[in-house]
Amino acid sequence: MTAPDPTAADPPRIAVVGAGLAGLMCARTLADQGLVVRVFERSRGLGGRCGTRRDGPWAFDHGAQYFTSRDPRLAASMDDWRARGVVARWEGTVIIRERGGARSASTEPSATDRWVAVPGMGALAHDLARDLDVQRTTEIAAIVRDAGGWRVVAQDGGTHGRFDAVLVAIPPAQAHALLAPHAPALAQSAAAAVMRPTWATMLVLPSRPAVAWDAAFVNDDAILSWICRDCSKPGRAPDGAETWVLHATHAWSAARLDADRETIAAAMTTAFAAVVGETVAPIHAAAHRWGYAAADPGGLDASLFDPSLGLGAAGDWCSSARIEGALVSGMDLAQRVRMSLVATL
Ligand SMILES: Cc1cc2nc3c(=O)[nH]c(=O)nc-3n(C[C@H](O)[C@H](O)[C@H](O)COP(=O)(O)OP(=O)(O)OC[C@H]3O[C@@H](n4cnc5c(N)ncnc54)[C@H](O)[C@@H]3O)c2cc1C
Repeated sequence: MTAPDPTAADPPRIAVVGAGLAGLMCARTLADQGLVVRVFERSRGLGGRCGTRRDGPWAFDHGAQYFTSRDPRLAASMDDWRARGVVARWEGTVIIRERGGARSASTEPSATDRWVAVPGMGALAHDLARDLDVQRTTEIAAIVRDAGGWRVVAQDGGTHGRFDAVLVAIPPAQAHALLAPHAPALAQSAAAAVMRPTWATMLVLPSRPAVAWDAAFVNDDAILSWICRDCSKPGRAPDGAETWVLHATHAWSAARLDADRETIAAAMTTAFAAVVGETVAPIHAAAHRWGYAAADPGGLDASLFDPSLGLGAAGDWCSSARIEGALVSGMDLAQRVRMSLVATL
């Protein structure tokens, strides 16, 4: 890799694969340091598992629900996001249901502030991506190297580059496939991480069920693991729609990966009705399958990077299986890239 020189005719160029929070945080950090960064994202939307799903007039946080901010490395970003209204504190009443009763989640020793992006979780990705060069609907299928540097090859055969470094911020199985031909050690680290699936169901109800809480960690049910009154979060449902999101347990989801969405939505709605103790007749119900929902990190060191190759990886699977982990991993990788560039000065 070569050192960055903003005045050079051909400054170093970095490709980031994946516009989830890890990839965007990495790209944002590098771009803010004056590097030329291009992001490639498979989907139309941004944010990956921390996105906003729109169904007709309704919007849902169908993936990540909220985030915590305990890591001091995120403090400056949090101050900025709060000041600009990108994130806000969610004051919803959250309970934990166990066999034999329920208790408040806010009295737990681990209780902490819960933060959400506004008006939906996808807003955080959109803020990070502002003024970045993001090429959407471009799934990267391979990385190739020639004398001029790295190129990335899209699923449709299109080739992009050249780049001085390629950083993959995608789930570990896909990261493994891209890295293995060039960086077996990095690929092996990616192979150690495991991802588990989650079915989500989004509901619009005619009225609020008669429960005194906004969300529940459900530890006493074979189907549901999380229930959230999505419209209780700041900036949601300006029309007053009663929007709810249900998440299924990993075990129940894994056993039904190929089930049709209607069957899943119906089963999860029935389980929800049993939890709230009343009949539920949704105006709208839709299920979404997260094939790679929850990471079981393989004990990695926040990010992976080989400075001699200019190849790296970031994601919650490198760090901790949450938004904080993804953001810190992206920052960490950007820092390592930056340090390797400085070292060549
Ligand atoms: C149901 C669910 C509930 C969750 N709840 C919470 C929560 O309440 N709090 C919390 O902190 N975390 C939660 N999480 C976890 C959180 O969403 C993740 O930790 C975080 O969003 C991971 O970000 P990431 O950038 O590492 O990965 P991702 O969000 O998976 O981003 C990867 C991106 O890469 C793209 N991509 C993949 N392959 C390619 C390719 N070949 N080419 C180009 N692009 C590609 C994908 O489309 C995606 O946009 C939840 C996740 C799920 C699914």
